[in-house]
Amino acid sequence: MRAEGIETVRRILCVFPRYTSSFGTFEYSYPLTDGVQAFMPPQGLLLIAAYLPDNWPVRFVDENIRPATREDFEWAEAVFVSGMHIQRQQMNDICRRAHAFELAVAIGGPSVSACPDYYPSFDYLHVGELGDATDDLIARLARDPSRPDRQIVLKTKDRLDMTRFPIPAYELAEVKRYFLGSIQYSSGCPYQCEFCDIPGLYGRNPRLKTPQQIIAELDKLLECGVMGSVYFVDDNFIGNRKAAVDLLPHLIEWQKKTGYVMRLACEATLNIAKRPEILEKMREAFFVTIFCGIETPDPDALKAMHKDHNMMVPILEGVHTINSYGMEVVSGIIMGLDTDKPETGDALLAFVEESRIPLLTINLLQALPKTPLWDRLERENRLIHDDETRDSNVDFLMPYDQVVSSWRKCMEIAYQPARLYARYQHQCDYTYANRLKVPVSAAQKSWSNIKRGLIMLSKIFWKVGVLGDYRKVFWRFALPRLRKGDIEGLISSALIAHHLIMFARAASVGQQNASNYSLRLREASVPAE
Ligand code: SF4
Repeated sequence: MRAEGIETVRRILCVFPRYTSSFGTFEYSYPLTDGVQAFMPPQGLLLIAAYLPDNWPVRFVDENIRPATREDFEWAEAVFVSGMHIQRQQMNDICRRAHAFELAVAIGGPSVSACPDYYPSFDYLHVGELGDATDDLIARLARDPSRPDRQIVLKTKDRLDMTRFPIPAYELAEVKRYFLGSIQYSSGCPYQCEFCDIPGLYGRNPRLKTPQQIIAELDKLLECGVMGSVYFVDDNFIGNRKAAVDLLPHLIEWQKKTGYVMRLACEATLNIAKRPEILEKMREAFFVTIFCGIETPDPDALKAMHKDHNMMVPILEGVHTINSYGMEVVSGIIMGLDTDKPETGDALLAFVEESRIPLLTINLLQALPKTPLWDRLERENRLIHDDETRDSNVDFLMPYDQVVSSWRKCMEIAYQPARLYARYQHQCDYTYANRLKVPVSAAQKSWSNIKRGLIMLSKIFWKVGVLGDYRKVFWRFALPRLRKGDIEGLISSALIAHHLIMFARAASVGQQNASNYSLRLREASVPAE
């Protein structure tokens, strides 16, 4: 649905801020693609754009693709911004630029919802999810779009039921410029891991869209030109197991109907390995990747962070089970935990080797507001505020320098090209071999898709296979793939591997943040101006 009953017309400029370079945004892969410039279309801002009254013209600018221009600001009557903590500096910068044009600026999304005081200059703070605060904001702007005398904070008390969410305005985004498509089925997670802000922000009882909404969104993504992979950004795909079971037959049917045009990915807790009936359906729906927050292989640490559900199946067994359904596991790992010991780094590297997981986002612990971890560290006087020289706001029990150097060493070793490609080789031989054998669709056979593949392949061959300093390792992996005709597997592995190798090299010499959540200023990935 859309906001209704508003007759005045307002022109709204939605601006999504740049990301600071980070492990999880894959920017080192972009030069090897056919023009990808950003990670995923931002769900929240495109949702708000779709919710605005029908007669309000909306312009959407993702500053990871291009900066908002003078002409954009001159066109607009008000500006909407949304983002995560990591984009805080960039969001405040957009506000400053919009104010130069005397425009009212509203901010919503996860960062302001957790920390309204990070954003003192904005005119409107939209705290919480889509709901009565959104209607209030729209009504105020309809009455008067000029900047209010003082900041107005609007808090959602009555959330809009997700079954009434409109389809995000994907048509406003240049979806082909994104590394992945994105979609959301549910919000919230029943667990309470100590470091996580999801239950505090979105609740423990997952809210849901209907399967029909998801199918309509997939149709629209396809219509807008998304090819390749679509990521379910749900906090936990099996947060409500029954809902996942309800959705999967619809996805399977849609994939069959469209010729398996999209590879699907999601985030889920590792205990999904105990649910073969869900895994089998996911395989049939062509899920190829699951991000699991494994966090640590240390059982004592899992207990301490209240992530006991990761121990319902031995971790390596869980990974192996998921792989056996053709799905690669991507893992989140945290270092700097209170339970860490001097030998934690070595234990982690042993786990990387044993699990054969190619992609692990290894982060230093960062305390986020609205988490039990934040509250505990505050009580223990171990939160370090506003020190931008550090990669974490946690006063670790081990010496800070030791934790950071252990993280750097793990990054350096885990992503040595030969080690990483050996893990990809395992995925090809074992995991990918278990995938559903899907027919080659008309879309895949189309000239535009073949051209896209050729562009990527030639860039990979030139930049990695000829100019790259790890070209020998690359060719050892690539030649057998070429002989088997597995071009897709080759392209996807090489793209991701290149990012991981390059990012890890920068990280190991201190040029990247040790936490995706750190406020430490680094160069933004794509300069906006
Ligand atoms: S399972 Fe994942 S989403 Fe749920 S509380 Fe834990 S870390 Fe957060």
